[in-house]
Amino acid sequence: MSETAMVRAQDVHKSFGSLEVLKGVDLVVEPGEVCCVLGPSGSGKSTFLRCINHLEKLNAGRIFVDGDLIGYRERGGKLHELKEKEVAEQRRSIGMVFQRFNLFPHMTVLDNVMEAPCRVKRENKGEVRERAAALLDRVGLAAKVDSYPGQLSGGQQQRVAIARALAMRPKLMLFDEPTSALDPELVGEVLDVMKDLARDGMTMVVVTHEIGFAREVGDKLIFMDGGVVVEQGPPREVIANPQQERTKAFLGKVL
Ligand code: ADP
Ligand code: MG
Repeated sequence: MSETAMVRAQDVHKSFGSLEVLKGVDLVVEPGEVCCVLGPSGSGKSTFLRCINHLEKLNAGRIFVDGDLIGYRERGGKLHELKEKEVAEQRRSIGMVFQRFNLFPHMTVLDNVMEAPCRVKRENKGEVRERAAALLDRVGLAAKVDSYPGQLSGGQQQRVAIARALAMRPKLMLFDEPTSALDPELVGEVLDVMKDLARDGMTMVVVTHEIGFAREVGDKLIFMDGGVVVEQGPPREVIANPQQERTKAFLGKVL
């Protein structure tokens, strides 16, 4: 077990009522790694990502991000829930990008990216503006700073959402099917931004059906089905030579 892992999930269990969605998920992601998560719909991928930044509470198991136990404090061998404020603090270092971009429609692109650092961290506005502008430049949207989300394509909106997450200077980025809602011709521009982030050393957990991205950019691939990690390994190996029947069946459908 690595002590330097960026994400360490141990035996994560999560149920909604009587529905057991995660049945003991383990995962280690090292700093700078890109971990791609594949699996059929309903296998618990989104729930697992949401557990990592405590949008969902675990029923059992533990998740550490950069050594910090998420959502809990350990004292005298017991786990105590953190206060809402403390959880919010932990969440700030974890960026998340969803299938739906969820930008504020009444705010300009620049204001969308500036919003969280200004409101949550109460950072200096001038500095935040500079950083936001640089991030928008990085995702190829320098010309769109004054536009409103409704004036942008889906691919452009998703790139704004990535810049917005980066504005909080996260040490970990979680992506939940970031290109699934996009028209096919817009997928590439978002994947390119993610590739650039990966090259830059960002630690990323990416739920995606983009096998090409997983093969090219991923350091690790996990295949989930029925709330467990069925198989994991280097993406090229898992994709070219899956060991488990469920992985073979899934890859057979998406490849
Ligand atoms: P995936 O992202 O792999 O498609 P999800 O994690 O979204 O899977 O969902 C796994 C299962 O958990 C599904 O059966 C889904 O209906 C259920 N589920 C997810 N979120 C909730 C919730 N908030 N309440 C009840 N059931 C949920
Ligand atoms: Mg999902």
